[in-house]
Amino acid sequence: MQNVRRYRDFHRESIDNPEAFWRREAARIHWDTPFDSVLDRSNPPFARWFTGGRTNLCFNAVDRHLASRAQQNALVYVSTETGIERRYTYADLHAEVNRMAAVMRSLGVKRGERVLIYLPMIPEAVFAMLACARLGAIHSVVFGGFAAPSLAARIDDARPVLLVSADAGARGGKVIDYTPLVDEAMARAEHAPPHVLLIDRQLAPERFSAPYLVHYEPLRAQFHDAQVPCEWLESNAPSYILYTSGTTGKPKGVQRDVGGYAVALAASMEYIFGGRAGDTMFTASDIGWVVGHSYIIYAPLLAGMTTVMYEGTPLRPDGGIWWRLVEQHRINLMFTAPTAIRVLKKQDPALLRAADLSSLRTLFLAGEPLDEPTATWISDALGKPVVDNYWQTETGWPMLAIQGGVEALPQKPGSPGVPCYGYDLVLRDEHTGEPCASGTKGVITLGYPLPPGCMQTVWGDDARFVKTYWESVPGQQVYSTFDWGVQDKNGYVTILGRTDDVINVAGHRLGTREIEEAISSHASVAEVAVVGVNDAVKGQAALAFVVLRDASAAADPKAADRLAAAIATTVDRQLGAIGRPARVHFVSMLPKTRSGKLLRRAIAALAEGREPGDLPTIEDASALQQIRETVQAARKE
Ligand code: ATP
Ligand code: MG
Repeated sequence: MQNVRRYRDFHRESIDNPEAFWRREAARIHWDTPFDSVLDRSNPPFARWFTGGRTNLCFNAVDRHLASRAQQNALVYVSTETGIERRYTYADLHAEVNRMAAVMRSLGVKRGERVLIYLPMIPEAVFAMLACARLGAIHSVVFGGFAAPSLAARIDDARPVLLVSADAGARGGKVIDYTPLVDEAMARAEHAPPHVLLIDRQLAPERFSAPYLVHYEPLRAQFHDAQVPCEWLESNAPSYILYTSGTTGKPKGVQRDVGGYAVALAASMEYIFGGRAGDTMFTASDIGWVVGHSYIIYAPLLAGMTTVMYEGTPLRPDGGIWWRLVEQHRINLMFTAPTAIRVLKKQDPALLRAADLSSLRTLFLAGEPLDEPTATWISDALGKPVVDNYWQTETGWPMLAIQGGVEALPQKPGSPGVPCYGYDLVLRDEHTGEPCASGTKGVITLGYPLPPGCMQTVWGDDARFVKTYWESVPGQQVYSTFDWGVQDKNGYVTILGRTDDVINVAGHRLGTREIEEAISSHASVAEVAVVGVNDAVKGQAALAFVVLRDASAAADPKAADRLAAAIATTVDRQLGAIGRPARVHFVSMLPKTRSGKLLRRAIAALAEGREPGDLPTIEDASALQQIRETVQAARKE
């Protein structure tokens, strides 16, 4: 059956007859009460999937596997920060989640209430998320390490009854003390919860003294043998709130459902990731991001797989660490962001080859455009296929990918592939709203209804959901991704950047990505950001900020000028003079969000002599300072 499945027919059916399509997929999960209808489209742009059906994410991710795989590892935890490694079978995970759920219940957590999880990459974060799911509470995971104001803002938006935190996180060998952050956020927030449940890793000095503090360890002991039943929730009850990365502005609280999400993830595991029960998956991301929610936790567990959770960087103790993990844990599927691979590119590829990678089938990459040189480099170094996939926090699972579990279509370099089943993905002219001809650039939009698993609404703000996402394309009620791309006649889409980042040079619209891709093809370049700045003659001009694989190549001004000229020529050859950057600047680091996305708008602001404003999600502010200084020095010249 599987061998004869054709992508085109499969996708067509999912759009023409979503009811039949998703009714079949819904059989992948356990329903305590069967649903009355597959899809309720009575109130567009809102869509309700599997209405009347009652299920539970924790039951499907944990309890359901006890009969057949209680002794299989569910969660393998590795921290190169603390040297701790732990394995939890499905039976162990079940026991831990029950303990956590009992503790939460004793602190007043109930169905429909929010729990804010502000934790580093520790197993208790998984227990806490699944415990919320078990109780029918709504988790809101906030990336550990966000500063107090960001945490306070999310507390006030979600109004949790409980905050779960730890004494400290650790990154690159440095301990990050959470206690002062949490104290400050609790003081700042208007709607601070009555309790903070503290997981004490004994990394930071015990400084918590606040009255709201509750220690997890003694409570865990007290509830050691607790059994907490799963709350059966209507499919459309909210499961969680997750804020977007905030690359383009104020993060949006994405709200997701229960049943649709479970079905969508279980299906994606087969059709997109090719994961089977018993396989091991290592998603190197963070639980604070959507990739972590979907592919560290829910999807692998829903599918009865083993998930590897990693605390640490790809470079410590050395650049071979991830690949040794693949060997040690016989990892079959790996998922990370292109940013991480670009970091590794500056390392010796021998480090990758030293490990036995025979268990690994595929490396998946998402989150940022994957430039062709990086894709080729990593694929060659590993000797494994690399699958780019394009999606957003809002969608919860990929919109574009080569769906190997449907039909092994050929890859197209620089493109994440073709629209995934369920998504009526159309490129549209941003002025007329009409579909673009193939080869013509436009905004990537999705037709109604969004498939299961996608955002239901903006938490607490239906009007914002409608206005932001469904009313930005003229004359059409379609969902805008706010990404810009081009589709070829075979359906392959190439992402050209965010709609905000499009540059207009002498009347030609160019995606920043197009110029970045051309620059990346120069052998000396490790990373690049291209931004548009105002130009009296051309309207806008492109500026490039380049990180070199070997910084010494631009050590003296003459060498730097030569290299800049060579890079500009590379662009000329690939895009024509129109894409040629007006200046190429060399920097040692680019400003990124904590999730590894380039902050192009902040760079553009500095390049035009404006201040970029508040950037609470920035990874390292010194990268901005470097851009500021580089631009100022250039201006003096
Ligand atoms: P905000 O919406 O708050 O500005 P964000 O868009 O950075 O934040 P995410 O949802 O984490 O938050 O990121 C999704 C975006 O990342 C996509 O809209 C797209 O711009 C980019 N992206 C994700 N995957 C890919 C990919 N494979 N290729 C190109 N771009 C990608
Ligand atoms: Mg976004």
